Amino acid sequence: MICPQCGTENADHASFCGKCGRELEGAPAQPEQQAVPAQPIQRTRPDKLVRCSDDKQVGGVSSGLAKYFGLDVGLVRLLMILGLIFGTATFWIYIILWAVLPEQQCGSQ
Ligand SMILES: [Zn+2]
Repeated sequence: MICPQCGTENADHASFCGKCGRELEGAPAQPEQQAVPAQPIQRTRPDKLVRCSDDKQVGGVSSGLAKYFGLDVGLVRLLMILGLIFGTATFWIYIILWAVLPEQQCGSQ
């Protein structure tokens, strides 16, 4: 503990300077607890389900679904195609999604 007034070195626990009697700062300076701001999680996908206007083969639904669920666009398209082959439900789901989902730039990937 060095006295800020006269520069005399005092014991660390000393409250007053042994030479000039100046009151010393309390405990040895501790590093201030830095409040680390919570890092926002990097979102690599859109917050909501959208159609990707900049990455579409048909209506952008597949790429929108892929981005939203973090899946490969090709895989989603393949599932869509398989769904279209094996049933008509997928077709209607696609149509409904296409009609309902807002179109948005998803960024090239
Ligand atoms: Zn002193």
